[in-house]
Amino acid sequence: MAIIPRSIQNTTNELAKLPGVGPRTAQRLTFFLLKRSQEVNDNLAKTIGDLQKTLKKCSSCQNYSEEEICEICEETDRERSKLCIVETPVDAFNLERTNFRGYYHILHGYLSPIDGITPEKLNIPHLFNRISHVAKNLPEGERLEIIMATNPSMEGEATANYIENYLKLTHDEEDVSCTRLARGLPMGADLEYIDEVTLQRALEGRK
Ligand SMILES: [Zn+2]
Repeated sequence: MAIIPRSIQNTTNELAKLPGVGPRTAQRLTFFLLKRSQEVNDNLAKTIGDLQKTLKKCSSCQNYSEEEICEICEETDRERSKLCIVETPVDAFNLERTNFRGYYHILHGYLSPIDGITPEKLNIPHLFNRISHVAKNLPEGERLEIIMATNPSMEGEATANYIENYLKLTHDEEDVSCTRLARGLPMGADLEYIDEVTLQRALEGRK
């Protein structure tokens, strides 16, 4: 161990914290980085360092955006009466490749009171405000459909149940209805890894 210089070990340790990167891969990446030019590595470090500085969360849907309001929320020709709730920006990105033309809301996680992830942590009060606002501004007789597209995991289900129960208590069913992605999605699978066809079918079969 002692023959590996500390800076190589430090870089390896940092890389090994990334998902899907084990210690061996991390070490291989470190030696790969060592062979590249200083300039290219500086560029990589700066790009990573700037990531959180340039991005904020869209004040409407909470997706990452370089502007106050993201591009999707800015699009006015989408269906106002459909709002799809997802756990991650990647989930929204994948659904965007289907023919869904409503809007999204990104939770950035799921409820897990044991880990201190409360509705407030996920900004769910903001989501409820948004839903009330959209429902109120829909044309007379039009109903807002909330499509729960959380992951088919225990936590994802619990999160969808919480949102659905709250909406049932606070809105008439004629104004706001809740649907879920049809199963056919394997239990325990992340939306992130589902292919487009399965995802499309699940979206069409929602109930
Ligand atoms: Zn947005």
